[in-house]
Amino acid sequence: MRTTDAVIIGAGQAGLAMSHCLAARGIDHIVLERGRIAERWRSERWDSLRLLTPNWMSRLPGWSYRGDDRDGFMTMPEVVGYLEGYAAAAPVIEGVAVRALHRAPAGYRLETSAGAVAARAVVIATGQCDVPHIPAMAAELPSAIHQVTPSAYRNPSLLPDGGVLVVGASASGVQIADEIHRSGRPVTLAVGRHTRLPRRWRGRDILNWMDRAGVLTQPAEQVRDLAAARAQPSLQLVGRPDHASIDLGTLSAIGVRIVGRVAGIAAGRVLLRDDLAETTAGAQRTLDRLLDRIGAMADAEGAPDEAPPAPLTLFERSPSAIDLAAEGIRTVVWATGFRRDYAWLRVPVLDPTGEIHHAGGVTPAPGLFVIGLRFLRRRNSNFLDGVGADAEALAAEVLAHLATCGRAAA
Ligand SMILES: Cc1cc2nc3c(=O)[nH]c(=O)nc-3n(C[C@H](O)[C@H](O)[C@H](O)COP(=O)(O)OP(=O)(O)OC[C@H]3O[C@@H](n4cnc5c(N)ncnc54)[C@H](O)[C@@H]3O)c2cc1C
Repeated sequence: MRTTDAVIIGAGQAGLAMSHCLAARGIDHIVLERGRIAERWRSERWDSLRLLTPNWMSRLPGWSYRGDDRDGFMTMPEVVGYLEGYAAAAPVIEGVAVRALHRAPAGYRLETSAGAVAARAVVIATGQCDVPHIPAMAAELPSAIHQVTPSAYRNPSLLPDGGVLVVGASASGVQIADEIHRSGRPVTLAVGRHTRLPRRWRGRDILNWMDRAGVLTQPAEQVRDLAAARAQPSLQLVGRPDHASIDLGTLSAIGVRIVGRVAGIAAGRVLLRDDLAETTAGAQRTLDRLLDRIGAMADAEGAPDEAPPAPLTLFERSPSAIDLAAEGIRTVVWATGFRRDYAWLRVPVLDPTGEIHHAGGVTPAPGLFVIGLRFLRRRNSNFLDGVGADAEALAAEVLAHLATCGRAAA
């Protein structure tokens, strides 16, 4: 059986940042990845996707963007190349899936597709966006309807002819609705809670303001309701070369039909709530609060004046139902978020909702850590740009744990 001080499960940015920080502390470790390095950026993203974070916001411990387009947005092959470069010296073993993780007398035992591994410490880096969440009501859709999630969607040409219903208006939903509509199909977008943001405001990218205002590094302990913060919808942003914004207004302007939240499905009809006025008003309140905060900073810097984006008032009425057959809708895209699947985790650290119980990535099981989750330590913990600080902090925790086992490397 292979033995090492620490095993990291997963070679996305979180696992690689962790590996860099363990190596910097001289900790013997391996990274087990069931696919290839950066697998999810290779095989679970659509063809046209670019990062919604600008290139300068890809700072990892010991690695940062070195190209000449700091304000641009990487394509998926570019992200993969970026992470492959980062992984060049990392002890990643590709093509090895962890099938079970157990406690063992001296730490942990991992059953993998390549045999057993023993380790004193384990870091779980299997991703916040692990398994696409499809609401149970999807089972009520007629079998003729093609259903797809953003992880499996590639481009409009692979969808059956006809109209498309996109459910969910966060980053993935709005981008996919926009792309499919522009390909010439009628698109309906069902909107729930969302986070509206302009791409640029007062002369700068909105993420540049948010970064400098400390919004993205807000610590978890400063958040009143952490569970709610962890469940917040993702930012309604797109990373286009022209730095354009995307929101319900831009989508409506090109002809996407905007409707309320999907409440149920019955007899070939998708039932909708009449809640657009409420959800858009909620998004506007959050946006106004954010822009107030940024505005004070922009004023102090003498940034050009710009009014906040106007409230969206176009959608006060939503139909109460859509008859899929009558409207020629043949595809439903479930852009309804992600869940985590820890079926392989045989250590009792899951809470009743199936999430790993942890404090800043430190689980109640000595020597077991998790990284890459939303608001693990800060608002940007699951972003390329935020995972590094967590990796630094958790590497210190791993080192301290190994020291208590008497096994820390020199
Ligand atoms: C559509 C989309 C767009 C995004 N855009 C941005 C963006 O612009 N900027 C940004 O900062 N963030 C973005 N994110 C968020 C985040 O950066 C990504 O989700 C990123 O992939 C997270 O990296 P990670 O290393 O935490 O997890 P992942 O990239 O999900 O890596 C986890 C790895 O673990 C492996 N794995 C899982 N289970 C096992 C197992 N049992 N055994 C072995 N290996 C296993 C997987 O194969 C995978 O490679 C986006 C997310 C999505 C879904």
